[in-house]
Amino acid sequence: MSRYFPSLVGNESTRDRLGRAIDSGRLPHALLIGGDRGSGKFTLALSVAAALVCENKGAGALPCGTCPACKKMLSRSHTDLTVLERDPKKATVGVSQIKELRPAMYLSPTEAPCKVYIIREADKMTPEAQNALLIILEEPPRDVYIILLATSLDRILTTIRSRAQYIPMQRFTRDELDTHLTGLSREARAMRSTSHASYSEILTAAGGSIGRALTLLSPKGAAECREEREGALSVINALGAGSSFADLHSALLSISGERAELSLEIECIINALRDMTALRQSAGAELLFFSSETEAKEALERVGGRRLLKLYELFLDTHERLSKNAAVGSLLTALAAKIKNI
Ligand SMILES: [Zn+2]
Repeated sequence: MSRYFPSLVGNESTRDRLGRAIDSGRLPHALLIGGDRGSGKFTLALSVAAALVCENKGAGALPCGTCPACKKMLSRSHTDLTVLERDPKKATVGVSQIKELRPAMYLSPTEAPCKVYIIREADKMTPEAQNALLIILEEPPRDVYIILLATSLDRILTTIRSRAQYIPMQRFTRDELDTHLTGLSREARAMRSTSHASYSEILTAAGGSIGRALTLLSPKGAAECREEREGALSVINALGAGSSFADLHSALLSISGERAELSLEIECIINALRDMTALRQSAGAELLFFSSETEAKEALERVGGRRLLKLYELFLDTHERLSKNAAVGSLLTALAAKIKNI
């Protein structure tokens, strides 16, 4: 096993490449870590930060995870670490948030040899914010590392992409998820031995995401997830050609709460549509939403195979508009009308 990032699972070659670059002092000053929600982007970013400041560099594991510098980085309490997050009340990361970072970026680090900035949801930066960041990336301060995290790269300006090294996160395989979960969570170990069927269902529903699997393991997470699934299923049930506009509209309105929740619901529906499409092409496809092929087949019969692609495009488009701050009510009314017109 590689000595680089030994506490992380999967992504072997990426970990090795990053570890070697840090060891030799040649890590680029800007990284762009891309991957799905729950794929471990933030954990990797924090581990890179720890490796950069680790006091036990040279031999053994990197980061060691036990020196004071590592511990502070991993617990996000290091004074030379800044994590920029989107204001939860807003749909985007604005230019003022990026500009606020700049003055301190040009000051020396306080305790470590370098400073690390992690920008979460970098794909939610407005174009103005991205341009403000670009100015920094064009001439980054010598002892500063900037790590951008993103789920959809197409929203990141190519000028930014060309100045950051891209690090793709892989989806975890079932085996990797299993290893990671049982190593990380007592609930997972207990569930694995006492109710293997439910445990196996969680591995499926997690769709390669450790964050998602951990959520599903907690009772609150499981309840929220059940609600999310039921909401998504009620919409899927209303997607058939026979449904009236009123049925469709009310099913869609029933899933709309906060913008973020609605966005998750729509992701579930997109996954369900993707499952049905995969199933139409061949049996035995790995399912992202449905818990069995039987369930997926029933949904497919109700929705109708020929409508799938159009529906898929409509929901993707709605998801995109939602992230750009479109008004929720009118967005859903328009969606219901468009579905009715297929
Ligand atoms: Zn250390």
